[in-house]
Amino acid sequence: MQTDAVLDHFRKTGAMLEGHFELSSGLHSDRYFQCALVLSRPRRAEELARAFAERLKTEVDVVVGPAMGAVVWAQEVGRALDRRAMFTERSGGEMTLRRGFGFEPGERCLVVEDVLTTGGSAREAIEVVRAHGGVPVAIGSMINRSGGNPFEDEGLPLTCLAEVEVQVFEPAECPLCSAGGAPVKPGSRTALAGGGA
Ligand SMILES: [Zn+2]
Repeated sequence: MQTDAVLDHFRKTGAMLEGHFELSSGLHSDRYFQCALVLSRPRRAEELARAFAERLKTEVDVVVGPAMGAVVWAQEVGRALDRRAMFTERSGGEMTLRRGFGFEPGERCLVVEDVLTTGGSAREAIEVVRAHGGVPVAIGSMINRSGGNPFEDEGLPLTCLAEVEVQVFEPAECPLCSAGGAPVKPGSRTALAGGGA
């Protein structure tokens, strides 16, 4: 699946908005991703996960994603690979593995995120996997907006469906504001575009 086809799934479900946005960080941006919307369409999620599985070059035993963002995506990738899928979650601010999830010693683990920005959540999930005897061997995401592979130094290959450059601006330096536009806060509007599954 080519990048355009991937992003088409996002556009049609309102999961990728293009325009002028005020992010929760206060920064302004020209794009906004809400991956939960594309994943809320099971057929689309399944198709994306299959495309991801075809692209993955590393043999893995287990898929793990940090909650909440990567729970559904980890499940879909696990289905496409026919592998177990689990999630890590925060408890008292700390990333943990709960609900009886665990690893056989040495199990090879794919850690997935929905959108990879800095890789912060994936990094926390990696630590949890290691602490429980698993071996992180690869990283995966639907969208990579990090501009590279944040895990290259650790020797972990990154597989993603689309590389997307997202421009982010301080409000005072935002060219979209300079052009006279006012930013909108994403998430305040329900996206019901792209009917069906
Ligand atoms: Zn702006």
